[in-house]
Amino acid sequence: MITDILILGAGVSGLMAARSFQEQGKTVQVVDKGRGVGGRVATRWLGSRDQIRGRWDHGAQFVTLRSSRVRRRLHSWIGDDVLYDWLPSFSDPTLMRKVCTQGMNQLPKALAAGVTVHRAERIRKLEWTGSTWKALSESGAEFEGHQCLSTIPAPQMIDLILASELDLDPRMMDQIQSIEYERTLSLLAELDTPANLPDGGYVRPLTGVLDTVIDHQAKGISDSPTVTAHATPAFSLEWYDRDRIAAASVMRAALQEYVQCSIVQVQIHGWKFSTPVKRVPTAYLDLTEGLRMAGDGFVAGEDDAPASLHPRMESAMLSGLHAAQSWGD
Ligand SMILES: Cc1cc2nc3c(=O)[nH]c(=O)nc-3n(C[C@H](O)[C@H](O)[C@H](O)COP(=O)(O)OP(=O)(O)OC[C@H]3O[C@@H](n4cnc5c(N)ncnc54)[C@H](O)[C@@H]3O)c2cc1C
Repeated sequence: MITDILILGAGVSGLMAARSFQEQGKTVQVVDKGRGVGGRVATRWLGSRDQIRGRWDHGAQFVTLRSSRVRRRLHSWIGDDVLYDWLPSFSDPTLMRKVCTQGMNQLPKALAAGVTVHRAERIRKLEWTGSTWKALSESGAEFEGHQCLSTIPAPQMIDLILASELDLDPRMMDQIQSIEYERTLSLLAELDTPANLPDGGYVRPLTGVLDTVIDHQAKGISDSPTVTAHATPAFSLEWYDRDRIAAASVMRAALQEYVQCSIVQVQIHGWKFSTPVKRVPTAYLDLTEGLRMAGDGFVAGEDDAPASLHPRMESAMLSGLHAAQSWGD
């Protein structure tokens, strides 16, 4: 199948772009290495699919909606029932943090409705055929589009560019290489009784071990008492490549100081590229003819949503929107 647009990455950036291209009447296919959509906007269940006892958001915990462009699109594409207000934001108490009723992954899932997404396909090489971009996956499958938008994180894009032997302008490579991410270790814990964490269930211990602890019962997405504890950047960096069981044990001990109940079970998840600490000051990059790159490594500011105020998920969505809306103009 050859589509007008081939998108790499079914995170919120790629999915917002896909919806926007489809709105413009273009044919789109999206390819992702994950089994589901959403990338770093991820939710795990406790129990079974038919009987979900609880949930953990173990990537993004909330989204800010400062940009009217993002608000308008979400309103028309997924409606107003998916997101609800959780807490005012730190930087501006009048602005709310929004969360999804069934965990944050509900948002990318809703965006993906009606979009062709090929899952569990890790792209290992990109080829320009003379009229299309062809993406070859590890499984041997091929996906083709007249234009290609990549929304995979910058370090993974660099690997893909090198493996594909793409001859890009060195200044372009410098820009991609300037994007840097933190690592994050996230502990998912089930408790025996409600955690009753203060501050609406979002506390920031900022100790040597834990950066943020989120009470999902207080947040409103879990019937059972579940919490996620994100480690500090320093702890995550130090422990990322070490024994995960040992890392989980240190994080569990640190978490125990914040919850007045027993921890029943824990799981640990490592995010190699969690949140960008250095971004490129443009909304997207044109790498070469017909090949564009977007995502949360880019600063996509607008008058009603200054770039400094909306890093991360909202920025990723805006970057995808800008990349799609300005192509072919
Ligand atoms: C622990 C943690 C906490 C966070 N908390 C918040 C928060 O509270 N609020 C907030 O706004 N943001 C938060 N963020 C950041 C937010 O999740 C990201 O900024 C946003 O989701 C990035 O979206 P994206 O589409 O740019 O990238 P991604 O979500 O990373 O999507 C890229 C996709 O590309 C796919 N991919 C990569 N390589 C390949 C390949 N070779 N072939 C095929 N597919 C590939 C990946 O599987 C992924 O699905 C958090 C992130 C983490 C990890």
